[in-house]
Amino acid sequence: MRVLVDALATSLNGSITTGVGVDALDRLPGGSVQVALSNGEVIAASAVILACPAPAAAGLTTQWPEASADLASIPLVSVTLVALAYPAGTVQVSAELSGFVVPRNAELKITACSYSMQKWPHLGGDVDLLRVSVGHGRDQETPALPDEALLAVILADLETAIGITAAPSDVRISRWDRAFPQYVVGHTERLGHIEGQLNLDGVFLAGMGYRGIGIPACIDQGRSAGVDAILHVLEHR
Ligand SMILES: Cc1cc2nc3c(=O)[nH]c(=O)nc-3n(C[C@H](O)[C@H](O)[C@H](O)COP(=O)(O)OP(=O)(O)OC[C@H]3O[C@@H](n4cnc5c(N)ncnc54)[C@H](O)[C@@H]3O)c2cc1C
Repeated sequence: MRVLVDALATSLNGSITTGVGVDALDRLPGGSVQVALSNGEVIAASAVILACPAPAAAGLTTQWPEASADLASIPLVSVTLVALAYPAGTVQVSAELSGFVVPRNAELKITACSYSMQKWPHLGGDVDLLRVSVGHGRDQETPALPDEALLAVILADLETAIGITAAPSDVRISRWDRAFPQYVVGHTERLGHIEGQLNLDGVFLAGMGYRGIGIPACIDQGRSAGVDAILHVLEHR
């Protein structure tokens, strides 16, 4: 992820500020917005795209109280990722596969497993690497298990799914608290309600909280928010 973000920042050299937060948005007359930055700077913007998680967007849109409340009510669940390293050759899986996802009716706690050494060949070499996820809307217990118990669950599931019995030579556990937005029934209507208020003032949304969780969906949303923002600026010149 870092590689992607760094490459984007480099390509925008001179027209991007990094390492500075947005503390507040204020509505200005005429469809523009004042942006207060954490370094004390204040910018008057003809349009703003909020590409932060929905809870952060809720905190920034308190001048649109209904939109802010709707953003705050998008539910989030926690997931835990476990990266496992094995000596090369331990993981015997088909070379053309990059991993698997687990259907909800399977008797497994893991939700997905990436064969990282095949998905991202530069990560391989002298190790086989797996990245396993646990946690979803109906299972918030597994991602909260202590390290040792969590690892036991994961190793048992990996044995069931792909027959690995060897112990990993290295393990890294990353816990992502309330990181995955849930698109519950009514999400689309809620989004329409939020955007109906924000867009009129030149505030647009993009990111995993809204129309797709994965990176490709977020890139699409960024592009269309960019088009919407440009149209807003042209209309209010
Ligand atoms: C554990 C995990 C595993 C994942 N694996 C995959 C995968 O394998 N493939 C895939 O396609 N997707 C994956 N995703 C999803 C992927 O991470 C998201 O699609 C992507 O990160 C969402 O981008 P985003 O811009 O919406 O949000 P984020 O990446 O969360 O970026 C939001 C940014 O907003 C910033 N921010 C917050 N508040 C403010 C503020 N007030 N001022 C300024 N900046 C602020 C944050 O610092 C952050 O940098 C995974 C997600 C998680 C949590």
